[in-house]
Amino acid sequence: MKLTQHLAEAKKTIISLEVLPPTKGKSIESIYSHLDTLMEFEPSFVNVTYHRAEQVYKKRTDGNFERVEIRKRPGTVGICAAIMNKYKVEAIPHLICGGFSKEETENALIDLHFLGIKNVLALRGDAAANEKFFTPHPHGHRYAEDLVKQVISLNKGHYMEEDIMDGVKTDFCIGVAGYPEKHFEAPNLDTDIEYLKRKIELGADYVTTQMFFENKHYYSYVSKCREHNVTVPILPGLKPLTSKRQLSMIPSIFNVEVPVDLYNEMMKAKTEADCDLVGTEWLLHQCRDLLKNGAPVLHFYTLGKPKVIYDVLKQLL
Ligand code: FAD
Repeated sequence: MKLTQHLAEAKKTIISLEVLPPTKGKSIESIYSHLDTLMEFEPSFVNVTYHRAEQVYKKRTDGNFERVEIRKRPGTVGICAAIMNKYKVEAIPHLICGGFSKEETENALIDLHFLGIKNVLALRGDAAANEKFFTPHPHGHRYAEDLVKQVISLNKGHYMEEDIMDGVKTDFCIGVAGYPEKHFEAPNLDTDIEYLKRKIELGADYVTTQMFFENKHYYSYVSKCREHNVTVPILPGLKPLTSKRQLSMIPSIFNVEVPVDLYNEMMKAKTEADCDLVGTEWLLHQCRDLLKNGAPVLHFYTLGKPKVIYDVLKQLL
């Protein structure tokens, strides 16, 4: 079912989860063991992230090095199919521009349509590890809005090969990313929201936000989006922060702020279990407040910490 339809029919706040494909060579069991724990809370959606290839240097037999591209986390489409099959839950694959040609994207969309997948999250992706700024694939897209256009085009039955007449129309509901604390490249939040608005005007159906640790960022983002006439649902993205290492890692990777109270509580923690407890209490507080304020969905970045999400949901629901 499309996420928007699900939201329209939902009688209570929806739970959704996000997982990463395992690194190449690892089993899908790591995903199953995460999801097995959380299925009792009846999540309506499981998002699966998409990852571009990385450039690595490999030593050749002659002793010289050559640069090769390796996709360390392939398998998004296959994992979506496996999750839908095993748990009878809607899977939402992420699609990214970075590292993919338009044709590869079209082929992925065709596979997803054949699998009966109804929702996709259309993203630009970050710069490659060896680049300072994002560089599009020579035959790919520069911005997420171009990817949104491609999905909309396929929804109308327009394929890249012009001689395909009466092409089957896909019917994807399209999500896009939003940044309550501003995307790090955007000059200011208003400009960032104007670009978000373009994605919506092109036909995107909903927004999932970057993680935030202070709900005030989400509330003020939603009201700012409404001022800019962005009227689609805005789903809050939530992540447990459960280690001292993450206090500096999360801001540097995701460009979000860690509130001083959370920082201080985490610094007081003596053991790993104490850290988990701090993260659980913080997330629980965020979720209770979001529920009280009518958030349509709680979207959890599960990424390696199903136990904390489990403890939060057990106390919440
Ligand atoms: P865009 O919407 O293209 O925006 C990128 C920047 O360009 C912004 O600063 C924006 O203001 C600006 N901009 C947008 N359109 C224009 C325009 N037409 N002209 C000029 N400037 C413009 N990354 C992955 O690699 N894989 C994932 O699975 C993944 N999942 C994510 C899920 C969520 C919910 C979120 C929030 C992020 C995710 N990301 C993922 C990270 C995301 O790809 C990066 O944050 C990326 O830097 C921006 O993606 P975007 O879709 O917001 O890009």
